[in-house]
Amino acid sequence: MRHILRIGGCALLVTMAVAPFAWASEGAHWTYEGEEGPEHWSELSAEFDMCSRGLNQSPIDLVADIDADLPELIFEYTNPGNLVETNTGHAIQDEVNPGNFLVFVDKRYELKQFHFHSPSEHLVDGEACPMEVHFVHQDQNGRYAVLGLIFEEGERNELIDNLPSFRAERGEDPHGDPVDFNELITDRTNYFLYNGSLTTPPCTEGVQWIILKQPIIVSPEQIQHYHDLLGFDNNRPIQPHNSRLVLD
Ligand SMILES: [Zn+2]
Repeated sequence: MRHILRIGGCALLVTMAVAPFAWASEGAHWTYEGEEGPEHWSELSAEFDMCSRGLNQSPIDLVADIDADLPELIFEYTNPGNLVETNTGHAIQDEVNPGNFLVFVDKRYELKQFHFHSPSEHLVDGEACPMEVHFVHQDQNGRYAVLGLIFEEGERNELIDNLPSFRAERGEDPHGDPVDFNELITDRTNYFLYNGSLTTPPCTEGVQWIILKQPIIVSPEQIQHYHDLLGFDNNRPIQPHNSRLVLD
């Protein structure tokens, strides 16, 4: 089914001229290319040490090692709306209301924000996709669970069209109708599961990664629009699996 939905497929990457520019952000300045790019992150600050020393880094090429009986994901995304979208200098990011939860293996993780990468950071069986969204959750102890959704090219996606930047482009109120994430996530049983890290400095490990197999279909124009908002590729290169296993 997945292949039928693919128009153009994942290997069709959006290629753009890289536009280097400076911005303010917390901690040491870092970028996605050049002297402050991914291969140099650990040299930029002692706090970024794990970016090169860590053995459980993300993203990775998702090739399933073990066919496991994974539990159905339970989403309690009950408080949508009030999306505040910002360009962090590293990604386009949306802050969300408190009170939205992912329940996984009896743990409750609260949704903190979601942001986009273009092209995708994770590969699936060696293939990159044009875009990926990360829903970043944390439990009460601060442990991360990140839900990743892969985008493939196809028809225009109405839900994505309701994101603030897309609405603003059309001259509409950017804080209009909230996006119902429940509609975005329809298949909650087929996913990859592995132990990894944040894909940006400080590359903190101990992140539970859940990557849904069902792609979100978006139009080439939507992908291009999102990529243009940021102005450059913001994908960290894939990292070694080392001794980790990917479950699916
Ligand atoms: Zn991310």
